[in-house]
Amino acid sequence: MKQILVVGLGRFGSSVALTLYKMGHEVLVMDKNSELVQEMADSVTYAVQADATDEAALRSVGIRNFDVAVIAIGNDLEASILATALIKELGVKKVVAKAQNDLHGKILEKVGADRVIYPEREMGVRLAKYLAGTNILEYIELSPEFSLLEVQAPKKLAGKSLRQLNLRARYGITVVAIRHGDKIIVSPNADDLIAEGDLLVVVGETASLDRWEEGLR
Ligand code: ATP
Repeated sequence: MKQILVVGLGRFGSSVALTLYKMGHEVLVMDKNSELVQEMADSVTYAVQADATDEAALRSVGIRNFDVAVIAIGNDLEASILATALIKELGVKKVVAKAQNDLHGKILEKVGADRVIYPEREMGVRLAKYLAGTNILEYIELSPEFSLLEVQAPKKLAGKSLRQLNLRARYGITVVAIRHGDKIIVSPNADDLIAEGDLLVVVGETASLDRWEEGLR
């Protein structure tokens, strides 16, 4: 169980907070708008009305005890940047901040965000991949360069071993797990065979993953 602070109760912040709370984490939400705070009060661990750019307010919620902080302030760039810098400086290990655009994102990184996300853009990429009829079931951007894909093995791969596919040498990507029916093989061996319909969890550079996946269609 983690202690998570979510600042900003727009659509993004509130859905992050509600989901984490439902998963059993301890979630404190903070917004300067008291109506939004009241609406969330019964759906998360704690809800406080406060300005996240106010150091005293952050200290009074015990900011240092949080494992993760999500800064989900969109329109007020100044508040987003100040809150990110302050919360990082006050000792939160992992600070994730939402950006409106590239410049905003770059600044957030400079002031200490460990991860910057662009929800609309990332959702757009996912939807496009889904609509393009790929074998991709799940797509997670781990960093700007690396991703994790969950791909359903097409006929092409059936009966082949990882040694035969030689993905590491050919594409620089790694199969980290294979799901075959109810069975999950974590860190599979070179001689494990793939069957059509198996789920492959693969990590690597996004461009290499795309190149490999395109070849499967
Ligand atoms: P979404 O797209 O997720 O709906 P958004 O990107 O449009 O949201 P905003 O509505 O600008 O984001 O901000 C989200 C919330 O952040 C608002 O409810 C706002 O009250 C809150 N907020 C803005 N500045 C601060 C601050 N300094 N301290 C605490 N909360 C703040």
